[in-house]
Amino acid sequence: MSFFSGKVVIVTGSSNGIGRGTAVLFAKHGAKVTITGRNAASLEETKKQCLQAGAKPDDILELIGEITDASFNESLITSTVQKFGNLDILVNNAGGSSVANTGKGILDIPLEEFDQMIDLNVRQVLRLSKLAVPHLEKTKGAIVNVSSITAALKLVPWPYYGASKASLDQVTVQMAGSLIKKGIRVNSVNPGPVLTNALVTAGATKDQQDTMFGGMSDSKTIPLGRIGVPDDIGKIILFFADRSQSEFLIGQILTADGGVMLKSAIFADA
Ligand code: NDP
Repeated sequence: MSFFSGKVVIVTGSSNGIGRGTAVLFAKHGAKVTITGRNAASLEETKKQCLQAGAKPDDILELIGEITDASFNESLITSTVQKFGNLDILVNNAGGSSVANTGKGILDIPLEEFDQMIDLNVRQVLRLSKLAVPHLEKTKGAIVNVSSITAALKLVPWPYYGASKASLDQVTVQMAGSLIKKGIRVNSVNPGPVLTNALVTAGATKDQQDTMFGGMSDSKTIPLGRIGVPDDIGKIILFFADRSQSEFLIGQILTADGGVMLKSAIFADA
């Protein structure tokens, strides 16, 4: 029997992309899953895929809302616990960038964008995790955060996005250190390029997204020779969430990027 059979999981940002792929994997392994996002039609598609993967209709809870809204954070936790009885795993996956100021220097970008990025990629993670802790303590559960390779101390085209994900990594480490005292394990996966709706969510057109992701599927950019797919990240999230497999991992920040970060700009042709 799967470790996840009957376990209760919240995957934020599961109406699309990595979150959807992750929710479907949990459903396939017998978990009860709360799925969430802003777009009702795409959330419904995630539910459909969870049912196709073997979930019973009553094992999927759909909640539509804005993840940076404090009252929505509260209802995500309370509605999940009311419906399923407890909470075993929180996947803080919702997040993203803004392409409005792509390529500009950090000091040329309005500070409002910094506030938005921190709110979306850090603040709501802290708030939701805080609300989840009393429940996760009872189940000796796990939190898995989804950060990004842009958190590394390198130049990126979206400086505030990178800064917010770097902050999230520090949050992961600090939460891991304090929450293990309650028996809760916290880890993070930091993806490289993954084929999702991320750039459209960040304000790009579908054509711009296709062009950008399309230009990445070569081994010069990604040593593995292909861009990531949501399952590549979902499998790692399930590994971190599965105490029977990864109990000894606490506060780890795992890069999953097909080898992108191995490359150095000065030896780009190597
Ligand atoms: P997608 O845009 O495909 O999915 C993002 C998900 O998050 C959607 O379900 C979206 O909901 C939800 N979401 C975003 N903002 C909000 C919000 N304000 N309130 C509620 N829900 C929200 O992107 P990805 O799957 O690629 O992104 C998932 C995570 O992976 C993010 O944290 C991202 O930073 C990270 N990441 C992605 C990489 C990539 O190359 N794709 C690389 C590195 C990290 P809806 O669509 O319904 O609004």
